Amino acid sequence: MLASILESDIEAVAKAADKVDYFVIGSGTAGVTSAVELASAGFNVVIIEAGPFITANHVGTSPFRSQPEIVPKIHALVKYDTSWISEENFNSREATPLIKNNTAWSLVGGRTVFWGGCAPRFIPSDFADWPFSYEEFAPYYDEAERIIHVSGSAPNRPHFIKSDWQYAAMEKLRNSGFNAIHAPVSVDTESVANGHISHGFDSSVARLLRSGKLVPFGEKQGVSLLANTVVVKIEADGEKISKLHLLETQTKKRYELTPKNVILACGGIQSTRLALVSGLDKESDLVGKYVSDHLFVQGLMKLREPIGVPLYILLAATEQLPYQVQIQGAFDADWYSPYHSTVWLDHHQEGTNILFYCFGIGSVQKNNRVELLESGECPRGGKSEYCVVIDHSDEDRELIKTMMAGMPEVGKALGAEVVRMKENPPGSALHEIGGLRMGKDPSNSVTDPNGRFWRYQNLYCADSSTWRNQGAANPYLTITACSLRLARKIIADKHARLARTAKI
Ligand SMILES: Cc1cc2nc3c(=O)[nH]c(=O)nc-3n(C[C@H](O)[C@H](O)[C@H](O)COP(=O)(O)OP(=O)(O)OC[C@H]3O[C@@H](n4cnc5c(N)ncnc54)[C@H](O)[C@@H]3O)c2cc1C
Repeated sequence: MLASILESDIEAVAKAADKVDYFVIGSGTAGVTSAVELASAGFNVVIIEAGPFITANHVGTSPFRSQPEIVPKIHALVKYDTSWISEENFNSREATPLIKNNTAWSLVGGRTVFWGGCAPRFIPSDFADWPFSYEEFAPYYDEAERIIHVSGSAPNRPHFIKSDWQYAAMEKLRNSGFNAIHAPVSVDTESVANGHISHGFDSSVARLLRSGKLVPFGEKQGVSLLANTVVVKIEADGEKISKLHLLETQTKKRYELTPKNVILACGGIQSTRLALVSGLDKESDLVGKYVSDHLFVQGLMKLREPIGVPLYILLAATEQLPYQVQIQGAFDADWYSPYHSTVWLDHHQEGTNILFYCFGIGSVQKNNRVELLESGECPRGGKSEYCVVIDHSDEDRELIKTMMAGMPEVGKALGAEVVRMKENPPGSALHEIGGLRMGKDPSNSVTDPNGRFWRYQNLYCADSSTWRNQGAANPYLTITACSLRLARKIIADKHARLARTAKI
């Protein structure tokens, strides 16, 4: 019922597509951030989202947080299985069916409904191979931190966890040479006062609603939402995208639109998959290539006795240390499952388990790629099923060993013992990047430094598919800041065009 109020009618959009300035595909943080920004500058925007509307908030900010049996069922409504496999497995796929070893999510809000909230910045050296510097990007980080309320990033947004134990543990870790900081978390810590009511976890669907820009299509200028609608193909005619092919998943009806502009925000891998299905790789063999994910080691430490207070510390990466460690606790639970609301909000008074997650910078190799498969229907619609083909380099394997070897040192500094550690397979960090890499030179990149395709004037990408590599920090804040930057560049271009026309 609520969905029927928030969503627009696909028939109406199909009939008046010429009134839409930007079609944004995907409603996660990449999609909503640029959609709201463009609408705030006066554009008419339509977000097309494959998944259904299920909730207006992050599950950890909702009462579902206290229902450990219900939250995995909410995931089950909207997740589907994907394959991240080695070259060897890929080559033997006719003999051995591909394993489904990974997960993707499809719903209004995308993964922002479930994500863990850890929102650090990349460090300046992470931008060495990007077509812009940290210094140029820093103002977008500042704004993105404000938009998604990153704790600790401004005086009115204090740290989320405050306990003497946390301060003492950070001190001990620093004395042992680690760059220990309060974890920057995207949970609104601003005081509830003077009309400000805390927003909890950032979620793009809540943000879209709060922006006041969500409108029924055709009635007002703003952002309209089509849910349960898959873009199955993008069609190009010369240097322009000339058609979007849509499938409404409830009625199974198909639609064709002629868009003025299109922004891909389907999430890493999915934007690339859509580009491949649409044959946009015909003119560049870079499309689909240079895919990567964080190297991911997770583990469990045990404290000698309960500390009674929550703990959430980040060992931030440095130029010398190309990995980051999230340390969270203390819990009764002894392992992390991505299908619960959050792993760390509900610490246990008597808990002695501390969970840690190390994210290492993975190498970026051309042959790590998205492959369309000859048969099978993708749950996202369209003819082709896909898989990600990825192998670790020798350098990756060395870094994984270094991360594992470093953890007992971390445990020692905290007075805890590492009792379990596991290297998770590629893709499981859910921090995927690449496939549509940006650059300054059209001969070695798919999009320009802002995310506009070199070969198609009216096609852009707002998500991590454009990234050439990533730092050790989790990606959400950087995705949000990149999407904001793309929208600002589009708006600046429009103003420059208007100024030129006025002069003539
Ligand atoms: C459990 C969990 C915990 C996480 N914790 C963290 C964390 O602590 N910190 C962090 O930085 N990151 C974390 N992440 C990762 C983070 O959530 C993602 O990197 C980020 O949300 C991606 O945003 P996005 O907008 O690019 O993509 P998504 O959120 O994936 O949104 C893309 C949307 O596009 C839609 N779509 C795709 N294809 C089509 C199509 N063809 N037509 C129409 N719609 C389409 C999808 O249905 C989806 O809703 C976590 C992820 C999960 C699942």
